[in-house]
Amino acid sequence: MHVINIGRIHGIVDSEITHLRGKRMLTGPRTIDNAFITVNGDKITAIGDMDSFVEAKDDCIVDARGGIVIPAFCDSHTHIIYAGSREGEFVDKIQGLSYEEIARRGGGILNSADKLHHTSEQELLESALYRANLMMERGTGAFEVKTGYGLNTADELKMLRVAARLREAVDARVKITFLGAHAVGRAFVGRQADYVDMVIREMLPAVAAEGIAEYVDVFCDTGFFTPEETARIIDAAANYCMKAKIHANELGISGGVQVATAAGAVSADHLEQLGDEEIALLAKSDTVATMLPGASFFSRLPFGRARLAVDNDAIVALASDYNPGSSPSGDMRFVWALGCIHMGLLPAEALTACTLNGAAAMELGHECGAIAPGRDASFIIVKPGISVDYIPYAYTEPFIAARVIRGHMA
Ligand SMILES: [Zn+2]
Repeated sequence: MHVINIGRIHGIVDSEITHLRGKRMLTGPRTIDNAFITVNGDKITAIGDMDSFVEAKDDCIVDARGGIVIPAFCDSHTHIIYAGSREGEFVDKIQGLSYEEIARRGGGILNSADKLHHTSEQELLESALYRANLMMERGTGAFEVKTGYGLNTADELKMLRVAARLREAVDARVKITFLGAHAVGRAFVGRQADYVDMVIREMLPAVAAEGIAEYVDVFCDTGFFTPEETARIIDAAANYCMKAKIHANELGISGGVQVATAAGAVSADHLEQLGDEEIALLAKSDTVATMLPGASFFSRLPFGRARLAVDNDAIVALASDYNPGSSPSGDMRFVWALGCIHMGLLPAEALTACTLNGAAAMELGHECGAIAPGRDASFIIVKPGISVDYIPYAYTEPFIAARVIRGHMA
């Protein structure tokens, strides 16, 4: 397949580039005007100027009619496997109910875990597929999915099996993360230390034996797991070759960034609360600083200091945090817009955060997140007349003319 008459290809990088840090997020990706992309199977095999395009007989041609092409979004942080939705909690919050009252009425992570326990794998798969399709229809070509609504060994394994089936069922690339330490499971309430011991002694070996999860995650934050507990869980998971992606600094300066960078975690995620020390640590490390502006927007929390992190040379990614409680949307175009409107990133800079650096946060920086020969044929053909700057500006206007995910056009 050839996509021809592309007004401008955005997000072109050399094959060895897996992420871009600091100023390079803006200046690193190149563009070609009046261009074509050739796709063979699931890969891009050539890009170039239309003047050098040679059409072979019987080739499938897609005419972009002057529209630009951008890489498909790489959403490195989602929780899309869950049972039920929590709009009741949404209404309760608007009416000013307290956290305890909301939990009593069925809100919070523990209630999501109760619902998941009573839902079949098939039903969980169908609802997760529905959400994955919503994400892909909105331009996502790779995403991560976490467990963490099981909170006991059997239900965490059930979530992993659903995640593995989801990975098989979609065109997008899917990475899977074990988040047994999302909250203290219902049977261990008031006994956090015992729960952490159980995660390490019982859950981790069982999860590793399934061979499905590549990463381990811990909710390292004020009121959740401590930096010491997080470090113990990360260390134990390293014995099973599972690298870390850590929830850190959403609710306070939690010490999560220190644990993540010291352990060489793939990413530290959330980061609504960052001090100068945390910014400096992220700037010095290869741990991707993943910020989740959709959660800040929905939960009315402060937005992460992405501008400062970029100015200090960190590798910054943006992701959706799609989940039923604090971010019920996996629309990466909205995430992109929030990165510009509330975090001070330029549209092209935020696009790198939503694509190549998101791929890096899933260790897919060689495979996707950019447009180059040898990479996944996962990109968005934008409607003619719409620029990169216009997309996050007109943030509700449909902009996708067509999308290609690993060679499949939709
Ligand atoms: Zn999360």
